[in-house]
Amino acid sequence: MKPKLTAERARKIREMKMTAEETIAITKKYCANNYSPIPVTLERGEGVWLWDVEGKKYLDMMSCYSAVSLGHCDPEVVKTAINQVKKLANVSRAYYTSSMAKFIWMLSELCGKEKILPMNTGAEAVETALKIARKWAYSDKKGILNNCAELIVCSNNFHGRTITIVSFSSEFQYKNHFGPHTPGFRAIPFNSPEDLEDHINTNTAAFLVEPIQGEAGIVIPNNGYLQTVREICTRKNILLIADEIQTGFSRTGKLFACEREEVVPDIYIFGKALGGGVMPVSAVAANADIMDVIKPGDHGSTFGGGALASEVACASIERFVSGKYSEKAVELGDYLMAELKKIQSPRIKEIRGVGLFIGLELTRESGGARRYCEALAKEGVLSKETHDYVIRFAPPLIITKEELNWALARIKKVFAELS
Ligand SMILES: *Cc1c(COP(=O)(O)O)cnc(C)c1O
Repeated sequence: MKPKLTAERARKIREMKMTAEETIAITKKYCANNYSPIPVTLERGEGVWLWDVEGKKYLDMMSCYSAVSLGHCDPEVVKTAINQVKKLANVSRAYYTSSMAKFIWMLSELCGKEKILPMNTGAEAVETALKIARKWAYSDKKGILNNCAELIVCSNNFHGRTITIVSFSSEFQYKNHFGPHTPGFRAIPFNSPEDLEDHINTNTAAFLVEPIQGEAGIVIPNNGYLQTVREICTRKNILLIADEIQTGFSRTGKLFACEREEVVPDIYIFGKALGGGVMPVSAVAANADIMDVIKPGDHGSTFGGGALASEVACASIERFVSGKYSEKAVELGDYLMAELKKIQSPRIKEIRGVGLFIGLELTRESGGARRYCEALAKEGVLSKETHDYVIRFAPPLIITKEELNWALARIKKVFAELS
């Protein structure tokens, strides 16, 4: 087949200035229909602000699900990326780079784990952690019979979209018609140490949990939940795996959400903010007694730990260490929560959150969160519904009180108009 695309046509397409309508039409024509975006066409970002193709300005209260916690196009991260991309971007893990050496050294010192396994996306890092847990289960540290290991997960979890991960999702749409599903997982209710205790058997290798369930609608467990879970896992010799992909890097007012209960998991999973808002960077962290079950050839990734990604992650980590973002997330998160609670609306069922990770749940009579998010976008505040009834407010951690007030005025207006 002769492709329709010629070099001349390729250049024309690349140089074309597209309107919002054209962009949406072309996207609908050529893109798989796996998302239903809010009809806003963005072209530029700086800090907490985004601009659409017509120059209209928006405040980002979504932060790309925490991937843009440092704000859009952080100058230091961008400078690092540009310098590195001109020098060397990728060589694969077949060779060494000082960029990767620095990245894993810094991440190890940041999270306190001896070993790091760098990957790209969150789902890949979750898969990596599952593989580590299974191989550990068959080692002499645990001694489960080959192919018999089980992992316990929580219902309403979100850990990504691969076949294995959706196999243990409780979301019907995420898994229906994607079977046969991967065996070896058992779901228990979130926030129930009793269920964890009850479901551990001799084949249980690990417990995988989000310290706060993000996609489930910002669901915060009872005080002491993680501590009890930690105690159970230690006593039963099973690994505690914390998916900190969304909660990590100061989002909840601590560097990692596990620190809210002074809990140290056996395995950390990081992603999203680690890439500084610039590119996907993820990683799994564990001590050597666990990570060393992985031998050359057991696992890999063409792009994972690439020089460009590693330099970007280094710059991002340095910003998180220096930026006092945890303190800011506490202070501004408390403020945002208090102000949101002042909104008098019969449509608001509950407002919950920690740090700058806040979910506003609407009543069933509200007509759903989507129309609120669309109305907010018209006013210049970008958010996104989580499931049908929760509006998520998770701005970049660099946001100021004045900028939050800018958003709050518009949020109040939308509630006054729609309620
Ligand atoms: C986003 C997310 C993932 C998946 O990350 P991707 O980069 O989208 O693959 C996994 N776990 C949690 C808690 C997340 O928020």
